[in-house]
Amino acid sequence: MSDYIPKEIEPKWQAKWEADGLYNADIDESRPKHYALTMLPYTSGDLHFGHWYPMSPSDARARYKRMNGYNILFPIGFDAFGLPAENAAIKKGIHPKEWTYKNIENMRRQLKGMGAMFDWRREAITCGPEYYHWTEWFFIQLFKHGLAYRKMSPVDFCPSCNTTLAREQVWGDDRHCERCDTPVVKKDLDQWFFKTTNYADELLNFDTIDWPERVQVLQTNWIGRSEGAEVQFPVISEQSTGITDNYSLLTVFTTRPDTLWGATFMVLAPEHPLVEKITTPEQKAAVEAYQVQAARQSDIDREAVDKEKTGVFTGGYAINPVNNARIPIWIADYVMMTYGTGAIMAVPAHDERDFAFARKYGLKIIPVIQPEGEPRLDGNTMEAAYSGPGVMINSAQMDGTFVSGKGHADAGMQKVIAWLVGKGSGKAAVSYKLRDWLISRQRYWGAPIPMIHCEKCGWNPVPEDQLPLLLPDDVEWKPTGESPLKLHPTWKNTTCPSCGGPAERETDTMDTFMCSSWYHLRYLSPWYNEGPFEQKEYDYWMPVDTYTGGIEHATMHLIYTRFFHKALRDMGITEGPEPMLQLRNQGMILGEDGEKMSKSRGNVVSPDALVGEYGADALRTYLMFAYRWQDGGPWDSKGIEGTVRWLRRTWILVTETGERKPLGSPQTLKVIRRKVHQTLKRVSRDFEVFEFNTIISSLMELMNEMYKAREAGAYGTSEWDEAIDIYLRMLATVAPHIAEELWTEILGKPYSVHNQSWPQVDEEAAKEDEITIPIQVNGKLRDRIVVPADASEEEIKTTALAREAVQKFLEGKPPRKVIVAQKRLVNIVL
Ligand SMILES: [Zn+2]
Ligand SMILES: [Zn+2]
Repeated sequence: MSDYIPKEIEPKWQAKWEADGLYNADIDESRPKHYALTMLPYTSGDLHFGHWYPMSPSDARARYKRMNGYNILFPIGFDAFGLPAENAAIKKGIHPKEWTYKNIENMRRQLKGMGAMFDWRREAITCGPEYYHWTEWFFIQLFKHGLAYRKMSPVDFCPSCNTTLAREQVWGDDRHCERCDTPVVKKDLDQWFFKTTNYADELLNFDTIDWPERVQVLQTNWIGRSEGAEVQFPVISEQSTGITDNYSLLTVFTTRPDTLWGATFMVLAPEHPLVEKITTPEQKAAVEAYQVQAARQSDIDREAVDKEKTGVFTGGYAINPVNNARIPIWIADYVMMTYGTGAIMAVPAHDERDFAFARKYGLKIIPVIQPEGEPRLDGNTMEAAYSGPGVMINSAQMDGTFVSGKGHADAGMQKVIAWLVGKGSGKAAVSYKLRDWLISRQRYWGAPIPMIHCEKCGWNPVPEDQLPLLLPDDVEWKPTGESPLKLHPTWKNTTCPSCGGPAERETDTMDTFMCSSWYHLRYLSPWYNEGPFEQKEYDYWMPVDTYTGGIEHATMHLIYTRFFHKALRDMGITEGPEPMLQLRNQGMILGEDGEKMSKSRGNVVSPDALVGEYGADALRTYLMFAYRWQDGGPWDSKGIEGTVRWLRRTWILVTETGERKPLGSPQTLKVIRRKVHQTLKRVSRDFEVFEFNTIISSLMELMNEMYKAREAGAYGTSEWDEAIDIYLRMLATVAPHIAEELWTEILGKPYSVHNQSWPQVDEEAAKEDEITIPIQVNGKLRDRIVVPADASEEEIKTTALAREAVQKFLEGKPPRKVIVAQKRLVNIVL
């Protein structure tokens, strides 16, 4: 018989499957659909473990679903716009387009080498004009529906990459650029934003989707919803006694309006526009010096909890609207212009930071919430702020009101807000940490923002019949820091769609997260030119049933794509509350040293070399076997040998009959049949719950049992044939090539194994004759008993209590309690 040579069989089957269109996903109303989506790779140039690790089991699971009768859509594509292409262009003098398409060619070859069931007719590449045509079109729809707007705003800017960065692209305590590690600086630019905040509340609702708890928590914290009130404080200056005009109503958001009576000062962010207007001549020098030092610090430093709080008095005052007290206005760097209104009311008795600040600068501390059953709080002697629930004191007519401090549901807070509303000094409000999505990038290699600016008419979208607005190929890279689109001699010149006069195009391009917000829709019909997708394809395939990918996208892509779907739904373009029903995140494969794989560490292992040496089946199954998928772990270069051995022994098991033995006993045949059906049951369950390592170990175990059974004469029986048949069908999901070769070529069964159905578990055959049950005495394992599988609870109890090891503890007395937990455990309580 032939040897197992993956190098020969793998390319052979890949070519045949592709030629036969085996994995073509076409609408078929007679079958249930299953849209299995795996996060699309960025066109970095090489397929690495970050791709193989999530994709291998995702492919295996899609195959399992396929064998269970589902019509599977398992597409793939490339996230192809973005900075690295442009950086390569600058460094190596290659055009970003050329660099990107070369990488795609290589990665496509590597992806095909995995033997995954991708339908390549549905490949989507985000940098192709047939794709970004619709990214532009979506931008226009968002603009038309008031969800895209322009705003001057301070943005994080990487001086090295010469581009603005989204909040999530700034990393670490030192706030460096995610791409090049350069510390970021602030810069004011006119930018395009999407109104993600319009959907903040809806994004907090996960009722209709099965997403990991951890992702839900990350998104919930990122959105950061808090309930409270907006309160207006009139501002006065030292010189005047009356209330000054216009600019001088200071609005603050507070989660504790019930503590308003204890607000003894206000704090503005040093950058707050009001600072200049209220600062008195005496305080001017100190305020300006403070502003300079604050500007040098990062937001993270400024917000650090353990940082010493500093500040400067402006000389200005505000009126506390609840009691008309004149309270000083300070500036302090722990208040941020980018969060809330850039101003806070300070209640030192009930807020940690305000307390430290007040103690340091000798500001008044007035307790207004009294914890029940405690000695009465005294501002002079308090050692820390009290932020819990209690009864309002020092609060005039509100005295005696109980407040929990927890949101609008609290009756005390409702009472305070109602009173503020009556006075015209405030209203109920909700605050979010979530900011609108800044999508402008001062870069070339991105989808153009299809907007035109006219001096007379302002901003108008490019007429839709003129899309796609193509990126020009003839651009130059000059070390000016300006986008090549801005420097292009003609590209930006156009005519106004409204008045026909001369006008200019927007030269910024879109954040690439815009492209990846809707790629799952383009997969539906990448050939389609009349719209972003064909309706009948959408109706059949959407929503995505299972989405697999990394948790690092929790607060970026995974929020953006939900926002995008919801915004489109409100325009009547998509349907249903969510785009992806089930999400599962894999862990990460680290280098052999336990650190993240990176070129600079020199701990990168190349999948290509391993595929060359052992084959794709070995690598796929090893990655599934060696780690709990959700956890990941460090690479072990020796570990793969074990998996290779298993595949080789599988090969031998099927291709060689071994020495002919006398036919096995009925008991032998019963045992192997039981093992087969138990394994089948277990593998089916594990596929449903994304436990892949136990699938491989179950198959390994079954193979060992099959060797034993053959030794005992099982070969040649119908039980043996069934065992081989079921084993290969299961193997087909995880090691598609070797399974096909054994099934089709060696055993001559009908092509293809991947068109076979998933076997049915014979529950009767899977039943154990006997079961082993551990016995605990007072929660400690003391013994094990073996009983018939159909033993009653009473029989199990009697057997357990009769054991010598148990008797020893009973000392002749009856036990207090005997618990038989589902025939899996007996616990005896003395
Ligand atoms: Zn950078
Ligand atoms: Zn015009």
